[in-house]
Amino acid sequence: MPNRPPNAERSFIMIKPDGVQRNLIGKIVGRFEDRGYKIVAMKMVHATTEHLEKHYADLKGKPFFPGLIKYMASGPVCAFVIQGLDAVKTGRAMLGATNPLASAVGTIRGDYCLVTGRNICHGSDAVESAEHEIALWFPEGVIEYEDTEHAWIYEN
Ligand code: GDP
Ligand code: MG
Repeated sequence: MPNRPPNAERSFIMIKPDGVQRNLIGKIVGRFEDRGYKIVAMKMVHATTEHLEKHYADLKGKPFFPGLIKYMASGPVCAFVIQGLDAVKTGRAMLGATNPLASAVGTIRGDYCLVTGRNICHGSDAVESAEHEIALWFPEGVIEYEDTEHAWIYEN
């Protein structure tokens, strides 16, 4: 797995079916753009249960697993990849805690939802899982393009 330079770290972010139905795509994507992250891949997907079971393979066996897969398969998701400094850890910080009630106000979950089982968005929890999730959701790869704002976001 290639180690990406710090300014080009990538994370997989997904607006879950409740976030899509509640018309929050623009607001959520906008937060990452506003922060300085580049969107290098994006698509709407109505995922199959098989695909979702792969995405959440580490949670298989948890009591909430069947409900989680049903929730995630209940409608389309908006999957995208952010690129930039500390994308994984800062992406998680921007999402908030898994339980929205424990999420700080100002985070996505802390501002837009109330319960763990309807927490509107996903973000990779480590660089390695990000690479794995990006490959799972974007087997076609991401888009490489010149970042014209780079010098206004980074020192070098
Ligand atoms: P995340 O990385 O913050 O999304 O949290 P996890 O990887 O631990 O869990 C994945 C997703 O499963 C969460 O975002 C929730 O949608 C769901 N989930 C986790 N724990 C629970 C739970 O105790 N109850 C329910 N209903 N869903 C849960
Ligand atoms: Mg997780």
